[in-house]
Amino acid sequence: MKLTDRQEEILEIVIENQPITGDEIANCLSISRATIRPDLTILTMLGYLGARPKVGYFYKGDPLLKSCSNQFKSILVRDNMSMPIVLDQNSSIYDGVVTIFLENIGTIFITNNGFLAGCVSRKDLLRTTIGKIDLEKTPLSVIMTRMPNIVTISPLESMYEAARKINDHHIDALPVCEKDKGKFKVIGRVTKTNITRLVMELGGDENDEE
Ligand code: ADP
Repeated sequence: MKLTDRQEEILEIVIENQPITGDEIANCLSISRATIRPDLTILTMLGYLGARPKVGYFYKGDPLLKSCSNQFKSILVRDNMSMPIVLDQNSSIYDGVVTIFLENIGTIFITNNGFLAGCVSRKDLLRTTIGKIDLEKTPLSVIMTRMPNIVTISPLESMYEAARKINDHHIDALPVCEKDKGKFKVIGRVTKTNITRLVMELGGDENDEE
């Protein structure tokens, strides 16, 4: 439901002056208390405003945003992840560069005996071109970011949690992992692209072009 200009104005007044009584809001708008009564009822019923007797109105937040955020928190990684691209830690840096291009990805997860051992990003690979490393002879294990420093996510965690981890750690991708006797089996990946796609799905409608 779209708010009227006056309702928007009331919200601004409450945000700046809360807690504030109905009479005070009416004064700010230079209109009578009776005129804004229906607006206050609507804003309270929709969840924008709370009211405490003898104290006044206060702002509770945008209910649309809250329902979006609850929806985002209920969407699981399991249903939005991509296939993981994995190389063994003994593969060469050269193989890593080729894989990044062939698979069109930004991060490779590295395993040792099938379990997560580290990861290598585009810039990790680019950095090796500055030195004098033999790209075909040097294994990825030499340049990878190692466990236990890898930030992982479980398939049953939410996409909100994935977005939070990616943002907090300033990284592009998370390996989706299942724990097996204290080790991590990589079963998927969540990247900034998965999150962008999800936001597009949530925000779009059937008229949007593909
Ligand atoms: P780029 O380095 O190409 O910008 P990222 O921002 O994803 O890509 O990576 C930054 C650094 O963080 C790199 O050194 C990379 O090895 C490391 N990294 C990437 N993903 C993770 C992760 N899930 N957990 C821990 N470190 C990571």
